[in-house]
Amino acid sequence: MAKKITILFMIILIFISSSNFPVKAATTLAKNVLIINSYHQGFQWTDDQSSGIMSSLSSLDINYDVSIEYLDWKRYPTEVNIANAYNNMKSKYSNTKMDVIMCTDDAALNFALKYRGELFSDAPIVFCGVNSNGLADISKDQVNFTGVLEELDPESTINAALAINPALKNIYIIYDNTESGISTGQLCIDTAKNISNTFNVQPLNNLSKSGIIDFISRVDKNSMVLVTSYFVDIYGNNIDHHAFCENLSNSSPVPIYHLYDFGLNHGIFGGNLIIGKIQGEEAGLLTKRILLGEQASSIPIIDRKTNKYTFDYNIMKKYNISKSLLPKDSQIINKPFSFIETYRKLVYVVLFIFLLLISFTIILLFYIRKIRLMQLRISANNEELTQLYEELTATEEELRAQYEDVTEAQTQLVEYSSELHHLAYHDTLTGLYNRLYLYEVVEQKLTLSSCIGALFFIDLDNFKFVNDALGHNLGDELLKAISLRLLNLSSKSNSLIRLGGDEFVFFSSNIKSKAIAQNFANKISKYFIKPFDILANHLTVTVSIGIALCPDNGSNVDTLLRNADMAMYKVKNNGKNGFFFFNNILKDMLLDRVNIENNFKKGLSHNEFQIYYQPQIITTTNAIDGFEALIRWYSPELGMLPPLKFISIAEETGFIKILGEWILRSACHYIKDLNNRKNAKFKISVNISVIQLLQDNFVDIVKQVLIDSRLSPELLELEITESVIMGSPELVVEKIKVLRRIGIKIALDDFGTGYSSLSYLRNIPITTLKIDKLFIDDISNPKSNTDVTDAIIDLGHKMNLTIVAEGVETEEQLQYLKKNNCDKIQGYLFSKPLPVTELECMIEEHKKTYGH
Ligand code: C2E
Ligand code: CA
Ligand code: CA
Repeated sequence: MAKKITILFMIILIFISSSNFPVKAATTLAKNVLIINSYHQGFQWTDDQSSGIMSSLSSLDINYDVSIEYLDWKRYPTEVNIANAYNNMKSKYSNTKMDVIMCTDDAALNFALKYRGELFSDAPIVFCGVNSNGLADISKDQVNFTGVLEELDPESTINAALAINPALKNIYIIYDNTESGISTGQLCIDTAKNISNTFNVQPLNNLSKSGIIDFISRVDKNSMVLVTSYFVDIYGNNIDHHAFCENLSNSSPVPIYHLYDFGLNHGIFGGNLIIGKIQGEEAGLLTKRILLGEQASSIPIIDRKTNKYTFDYNIMKKYNISKSLLPKDSQIINKPFSFIETYRKLVYVVLFIFLLLISFTIILLFYIRKIRLMQLRISANNEELTQLYEELTATEEELRAQYEDVTEAQTQLVEYSSELHHLAYHDTLTGLYNRLYLYEVVEQKLTLSSCIGALFFIDLDNFKFVNDALGHNLGDELLKAISLRLLNLSSKSNSLIRLGGDEFVFFSSNIKSKAIAQNFANKISKYFIKPFDILANHLTVTVSIGIALCPDNGSNVDTLLRNADMAMYKVKNNGKNGFFFFNNILKDMLLDRVNIENNFKKGLSHNEFQIYYQPQIITTTNAIDGFEALIRWYSPELGMLPPLKFISIAEETGFIKILGEWILRSACHYIKDLNNRKNAKFKISVNISVIQLLQDNFVDIVKQVLIDSRLSPELLELEITESVIMGSPELVVEKIKVLRRIGIKIALDDFGTGYSSLSYLRNIPITTLKIDKLFIDDISNPKSNTDVTDAIIDLGHKMNLTIVAEGVETEEQLQYLKKNNCDKIQGYLFSKPLPVTELECMIEEHKKTYGH
């Protein structure tokens, strides 16, 4: 592209420079032009005309030849001079065919017309610098000529001076006394007067050269000095017109006007001047037309004024004349050219180059912009790419991080899965195997080992009370401690499982006989002999163990578990703390817990519950002191049910609250009635479950029962098991205190089986201690130690408590207790718990036997 532009530029430059040179036409036979000047070379008027002629001819396309002659008529206006010129030209041009004769001013035209036929082969004549009067004189009846008239215009010049200085008054006209001087001067005088008759018009043709200068130096500001044809002084001497003009200008207080342009550059201000050069140019154009074939006679003489308002810039400055005062189309010479005027062409070229450069620049800028845009786009793309790259890197990092996370998660998953596996098969509290383990792993073992072994179902006795009374925290700790102990029995063939709550299972795979199983059950029990120290509590725990043998009692976990559970319930029914083997008879005897729950309410409304009463005998007198109310349930569906079979279920279901209140109320009403009838003061002991005691309105219930039955509070004793008292919250203790204040007695039941802390009992206002049958049984056992029983009685008495021995069956036991000052005894020795009718018979019998 740049290359193309450079070539274009070069072509344009070549075109511009070549246009400077005229293209010459092909050379044919040259045309001859003779220029005859009236005056001499160096006379500016003449030189200007010549220069104008040459300039017009220069554009001629044909081949021509110019000869120039000077008649020197200004300096030598003589016949001799003319004759010499004649001779000279005759010798020069008699053999040359002239095509056009050009004459400047009158003398030359006169000469040419006179000798044209003789010397210049009758060539057509073109003149200039001749006025109409002069032409009329010279041409007479001549033809075949044409030319440019020289029309002086003093009128315009005077008017211009008037415009510059409207106060113009005096007009001084300078001319010589030659023929042409006088005629010119007269023309100016007439013209000035014609313009305004107020003008003082004064000719200075009678003054000497220095006189004129002297005169002019003294004119006032409202004067106009007009120089016309002044070449000869009053003495007839030729004068240097230019030097004269300069001298005049130097001494004049006003600008000097002129009629001809040759005064310019010599101190003359200007005027509507005849321009010699224009005269020449016009004449040159006419010559051109003739040379190109036109007839001179057919070309009209140009009478149009070849004048031009021309003023000298320097003089304008000198007299402080504003340009605006000059006529409109004035030409100002010597004006310092503006740069454009001086170097117009150069300026155009430079301008063109500049424009070219600008276009170049614009193109370049366009391309630069395009490149910039592309660069920007590239850099934007690059940025985008970088960003993308960064994003990709980030994504890669993210992916890597995610991969690491995934790997970590995988490891974690493996850990979790093994943890889960552990969790799935283990109990969270104790860390022992759980029910799922039993059902999945043990089940599998059973199938594999052709099913030989035993399942031990272990249930803690009274654990519910521990939990309720001492709090779950302690319950949990106890379970953990029990687990730890039982783990001693765990081995590869003995799996210890916690089923949930207070239920544990041992599955032993290598037990082949009932004897071995019994041995193992004993081992389990042994671990419970030693009390547990949990959170500053000294707890004695017993367990009920049900045993199911494999394959005799079942060959899968479900059956074995169900049967062992049944066997365990048998232990509970028998008073807890022991073990029992499952057998098929047991199966029939066992109660359906669900049935019991459903039958409770119906049982109560259908009077299926009955209270049995067992007498308590005063050891010293054998008199009946009172009775313990013991509940029985005759269910048509389930048969006769001892309390151990349903009390715990009633507690679990909450039914004990209704049942307990019914027992309390029935017992109180009955004993009141009995006392009324027998005129006695029998006491009544009623067993109270912990669930009842925890009831908010328990005290109110008791009070209401006493009010309703009108039984004296002193005759009512509430039996609360040791475990309840020991772990009871302050609230329970408070309730007991309230009951005591009313006068109700409180007996601590089953004393010795649970948490033997007698010192603790000091804080609880109990009235009675009931020594558990276990201790009483020991009395008749020669191997056992009765120290504990002795200590209980002793300590109880020291605490002012009434001591009651439970389960007294033998005379031996009675004697021992009597000896050891046990206050009362209760047991089969005297009477089993009896229904009301039998009881009353018994009372009568007893009265008969003992007298009271
Ligand atoms: P407990 O309060 O320790 O009642 C004494 C238990 O020992 C009674 O069993 C009674 O029949 C039995 N017994 C009395 N003397 C002898 C004896 O010489 N030899 C033998 N082997 N046993 C004897 P029972 O009636 O089966 O009651 C068992 C447990 O059920 C009671 O133990 C008591 O904890 C609970 N219970 C009974 N009735 C009620 C009741 O109305 N309310 C509450 N909450 N629990 C009751
Ligand atoms: Ca009791
Ligand atoms: Ca008891």
